[in-house]
Amino acid sequence: MGDGWKVSIVTLMNERLAVGSASGPDAKEMLALAQTLEVDDRPALENKAVRDRIATWHCEQSGLHFTKLRVQSAMSRGETPGPENSITKIVSANKLQGIGSYGMDLMDMGGILVDQDGQDDSFYGAWLSAPGLRIAGGTDEILRNIIAERVLGLPGDIRVDKSIPFTEVPQGGKG
Ligand SMILES: Cc1cc2nc3c(=O)[nH]c(=O)nc-3n(C[C@H](O)[C@H](O)[C@H](O)COP(=O)(O)OP(=O)(O)OC[C@H]3O[C@@H](n4cnc5c(N)ncnc54)[C@H](O)[C@@H]3O)c2cc1C
Repeated sequence: MGDGWKVSIVTLMNERLAVGSASGPDAKEMLALAQTLEVDDRPALENKAVRDRIATWHCEQSGLHFTKLRVQSAMSRGETPGPENSITKIVSANKLQGIGSYGMDLMDMGGILVDQDGQDDSFYGAWLSAPGLRIAGGTDEILRNIIAERVLGLPGDIRVDKSIPFTEVPQGGKG
């Protein structure tokens, strides 16, 4: 009794943690793809822009990996997932969308094909599904607010209804 908000937040934090690992192609798959392609008649892996992208996604993947290990350690001590877990979902969903989009671009018109003749369609699938992941379980904007306010301690967003009971919040014409 009296802890309803806390119970809700813990539930949502656990859900966010569960959906936080976007499954799909990663830096490793992008590297494998780039090894098979050419950009400007040269191997794609000789292209600085391609190398830069793969390195960035590799670093993000490492950051996510170690963040998850920290979470697992905390949970093994009986702690509950905290607001810092908002980082995992926002990074992995945006990374997935970037990888899907770049993989399709690298494959040129072949990027839009589905897998009927050996063409890898996992980048296409990532490109289609990642935008939904940036909404489900808390949108990018909400997660950025959480990270700003509850992790970095920045000033809070303006909320004119913060101190008002839910039943008294103005609702359209009814308020
Ligand atoms: C693929 C997918 C699967 C889903 N699965 C489930 C599920 O299994 N169970 C379930 O219950 N729900 C599910 N949802 C719903 C999901 O949780 C909501 O869509 C999501 O939380 C966003 O809420 P909303 O749609 O009401 O958008 P709103 O809250 O109406 O937001 C609309 C826009 O305004 C922005 N916005 C809102 N408030 C603020 C603010 N304070 N500051 C800055 N920007 C703000 C948002 O970022 C967004 O861009 C799913 C959604 C998707 C896309």
